[in-house]
Amino acid sequence: MTMLQTPHGPLGLPAFLPDATRAVVRTVDCRDLENCGVPALMVNTLHVSATPGLSVVRAMGGIHRFMGWSGPVATDSGGFQVYSLAAAGLASVSEVGFSYRSGRRAKRQRLDPRSCVRKQFQADSDIMFCLDHCVAPGAGGAEHRLSVNNTIRWAQECREVHLETARHGERPLLYAVIQGGENPALRRECAQRLLEIGFDGYGYGGWPISDSGGLVDSVAMVAELVPRELPLHALGIGKPENLVRAWRFGYDTFDCVIPTRDARHGRMFAFRVDPARSDLAGDFYESVYVDNERSARDGRPVDETCDCVCCRRYSRSYLRHLRAIEDPISHRLSTIHNLRFYIRLCAELRDRGRSGE
Ligand SMILES: [Zn+2]
Repeated sequence: MTMLQTPHGPLGLPAFLPDATRAVVRTVDCRDLENCGVPALMVNTLHVSATPGLSVVRAMGGIHRFMGWSGPVATDSGGFQVYSLAAAGLASVSEVGFSYRSGRRAKRQRLDPRSCVRKQFQADSDIMFCLDHCVAPGAGGAEHRLSVNNTIRWAQECREVHLETARHGERPLLYAVIQGGENPALRRECAQRLLEIGFDGYGYGGWPISDSGGLVDSVAMVAELVPRELPLHALGIGKPENLVRAWRFGYDTFDCVIPTRDARHGRMFAFRVDPARSDLAGDFYESVYVDNERSARDGRPVDETCDCVCCRRYSRSYLRHLRAIEDPISHRLSTIHNLRFYIRLCAELRDRGRSGE
């Protein structure tokens, strides 16, 4: 598969989706994103339902009109966020879904499979995710078994609501998430059952990154379990070398906070040689930090090979100055650059195809 059709247009694959968690990619606007070549965005359903509220988004004509973004929008299920709240003692899980509070003083709310899909419809999402039951990487066998059972049952409910609701209009895509930790039998069972129900796409669920920063074995395992003609999303895989590996395993779309968050923290990515001439293996890129004395008189751009406004127009010296005086423009320029790096990387992978030839 080289192209994914969505209600708001096609997506060339692989596609990197920046996280527009609260309906904005922090520090940049949609024109910046378009100029970077960003194809689609990932919005956090629970954040947007808390502020400004899904009724506001609907009243404004849906998430695209509200944000001023005409391309595809994917929305997460909220399951991972609620799972994170559970770690802080603010959420609990049962076989019907989650009960959670967004803060110690906040009132208790429920997130179940049906409400999860309805919320994503309200947001006018193009790519929705089923509610899944995420567990910690070190969890025991019984917890992973429960997670797989809940994930399959909830996915079935999500599919029912999706079919009922989509009957009257253009149908957004619904992805199911494959859980099962590092247990091959559980991963296989989860994938098979979800494939039997039938979804528009599938996602890797759980913790893809090992302690050493590489990909865990189940990332390749899940890619082998899903037929190639079905789209596969890698939730949370975002380091450039991991994106390249996962694409070669069979993943098509990616979302991760790394390029945007690291940009604000002063880390920028630069190709060592033009990506068209790079083997995209080993140390094919470097991390550039400008918060040092050495950069004060460095007239080079962040990345000599890059065509973004940050690299075309400004030096490392000037970026360092903007960061030193804490001008917000520094965050905007470094975010634009990092996103452009990811978009160029995806374009190069697309040109070469899956095998990397
Ligand atoms: Zn650049």
